[in-house]
Amino acid sequence: MKPAQLLLAYQRLVEKERELRDEIERVESLLASDPDVAHAEAALAEARERQQSIVLRLRESDRERETHRTRIRSREKELMSGRIRNPTELMQLNQEVDHLKANFAEEEEAELRLMEEGELADQAVVEASERLQDARSRSASDEPALRRDLESWQAELATVKADGEAAWAQIAPAAQNAYLRVRVHPPVAEVARNQCLVCHVTVTSSGMQALRKGEEIVQCENCGRILVIA
Ligand SMILES: [Zn+2]
Repeated sequence: MKPAQLLLAYQRLVEKERELRDEIERVESLLASDPDVAHAEAALAEARERQQSIVLRLRESDRERETHRTRIRSREKELMSGRIRNPTELMQLNQEVDHLKANFAEEEEAELRLMEEGELADQAVVEASERLQDARSRSASDEPALRRDLESWQAELATVKADGEAAWAQIAPAAQNAYLRVRVHPPVAEVARNQCLVCHVTVTSSGMQALRKGEEIVQCENCGRILVIA
């Protein structure tokens, strides 16, 4: 093989190695933490938080209603006691009791709505728990296949790495240096119909002649990549 062809073969092995590393990393992170499970866990935590906040609001609402109920009773007792004889005072007290009762009825309504919300929140927690269980069992059933994939990719990676090292060793030092000096990625570009296939700029006729001979390294005048005839 000509130097540029050797470099292209080496580059392909490097690319293959990177793809394998990416796949391995993806599967390893999936095995460490399945995003579906993590998402379902977060959803359950949120549903529980909402449930808990409604429980606290209900407790608070019960306490307030108890206080108000006591106040109404004591005012009613006062009203019935016959101690108050002044008609204006009686009327005022009567109005106060009516007002307190109206408020109390509104509070009861609000409490009922809150209890309905609480039932919905309980249901949401049940559903979120079920979804989490589903996600966990799906994740567990996917795991053996993922581990098998991981092992086979790790084995392939070892082979590709060894092949890459062997390919690099076959490349003449001048060509190695040319490859290492290219600052763009990937460093080697194929040429078809007299064009660099990465940047699509036409290669000069002298460049094409040199490429056909294949003895020396020819670089794209536009992007600087090492050229090789496709
Ligand atoms: Zn180019």
